[in-house]
Amino acid sequence: MSEEEKFDCIVVGAGPAGLSAALTLAKAGVEVAVLERGDYPGAKNVMGGILFTTMLDKLIPEFWKSAPVERHVTHRRFSVLSKDGEVAVDFKTAAYNEPPFNNTWTVLRAKFDRWYGDQVEEAGAMIIPGMMVSELLLDGGRVVGVKTEPGGDELNCDCVIVAEGANSFLAEQVGLRQPHDGKHMAVAVKEVIGMPQDVIESRFHLNDNEGCAYEIFGQAVQGTFGSGFLYTNKESLSIGIGSTIHDMKKNQLNPNEVLEHFKNHPAIAPLVRGGESLEYSAHMIPEGGYSHLPKLTMDGLILAGDAAGLVNASHYHEGSNLAMASGVLAAETVIAAKEKGDFSDATLAQYRTKMEGSFVLKDLKKFQKFSQFLIDNPHLLRDYPDSMVGLLTDYFRISEKPKAQIEKEVFDRFKKEIGIFNIAKDLYKAWRATR
Ligand SMILES: Cc1cc2nc3c(=O)[nH]c(=O)nc-3n(C[C@H](O)[C@H](O)[C@H](O)COP(=O)(O)OP(=O)(O)OC[C@H]3O[C@@H](n4cnc5c(N)ncnc54)[C@H](O)[C@@H]3O)c2cc1C
Repeated sequence: MSEEEKFDCIVVGAGPAGLSAALTLAKAGVEVAVLERGDYPGAKNVMGGILFTTMLDKLIPEFWKSAPVERHVTHRRFSVLSKDGEVAVDFKTAAYNEPPFNNTWTVLRAKFDRWYGDQVEEAGAMIIPGMMVSELLLDGGRVVGVKTEPGGDELNCDCVIVAEGANSFLAEQVGLRQPHDGKHMAVAVKEVIGMPQDVIESRFHLNDNEGCAYEIFGQAVQGTFGSGFLYTNKESLSIGIGSTIHDMKKNQLNPNEVLEHFKNHPAIAPLVRGGESLEYSAHMIPEGGYSHLPKLTMDGLILAGDAAGLVNASHYHEGSNLAMASGVLAAETVIAAKEKGDFSDATLAQYRTKMEGSFVLKDLKKFQKFSQFLIDNPHLLRDYPDSMVGLLTDYFRISEKPKAQIEKEVFDRFKKEIGIFNIAKDLYKAWRATR
């Protein structure tokens, strides 16, 4: 390719990070190409299904009027499963029925990403599907383009935004990331289960286009460091589990079997009963958080989204919005670099400063110790759910026993199985881990 044909920027990957970067660049008149290995944006993408849309609403105001979104989430539920029971915190509000619908939507990525890609093309970016970037081209330590497959073609540019998702070989190629370590990388499997709209709405107590999001811990993943999820779409459910590769291996678990086990749990089985399996997929989630962030830039390159490890793996379970925000901030950095005519690491390092100032790194920083706290205290997800369900089972058991005696027995069991000092210590450590 001649110098004249060089792109200003090449984006690798048409996920939320890459497409948000390309849209921002195209709107600013920057010449940008997005290379996507799938046959179309979304073809290869897996996500539980909650798209957090604060950034999207800024990029495409009132996107929900045209985007193929499923339901806005008005009902959130966090629970722990024991072997045969469940304890839950359940929250529902009609306040989220008003625009912007709490920026929380269930989506099916194959449909959503395709639509998003169309908007990005309309803004002037070029999306090239069916093209995988196999290698970054370097000139004296500076990234100057990419090599693609099939064909082995080379494309030149001033800057590459790597937004290729969790398993970023390109970041590894240039030494920004090491091969993943199993304690901070989760493996997740997801199934889409078809179900008639009226069954979903009556089973989950939903009006009109309301949706719900269940995050489920403990025996959902057989007590490992991870969780299960269940989200309602228009005419399907998205259900899945994810847990660290380390825990899966240590407990000799197979993710597909864990999902089957989860679907057959007495608290979950009635929710998925009668549904038809439509789709099955697996993917990785980078869960290292702030303390495992790689260096985000080098001469001619920026990392965005999952490729940079930008997932808030706390109970918030956010990745899509961090990906979109990082894509926008990466694009703004490239626009400033183009104006300056300087794509060196020193200039692109502004990206890290912008990220530190945004919710992306502020949130990851807030929860940087949280994952480690759960890894260091496996009893919280392994033993506490059984104890909690056991205590409540005894407490609510109807018999001729006087209530005072029941309360005393339950309290004695609590002291024996958990202990006041231990629970106080764990609560304090949990509080410290989110400061
Ligand atoms: C099971 C599961 C459930 C999740 N649930 C949620 C959720 O409910 N809410 C939430 O906010 N987040 C969730 N996440 C996290 C969320 O999916 C990610 O944070 C988000 O998708 C990251 O976006 P991205 O653009 O960085 O990467 P991706 O969405 O992974 O997109 C990367 C793109 O790059 C393409 N690509 C990869 N390599 C190459 C290459 N070499 N050349 C060309 N193209 C390439 C891929 O095909 C893909 O299209 C979940 C993740 C998983 C796995």
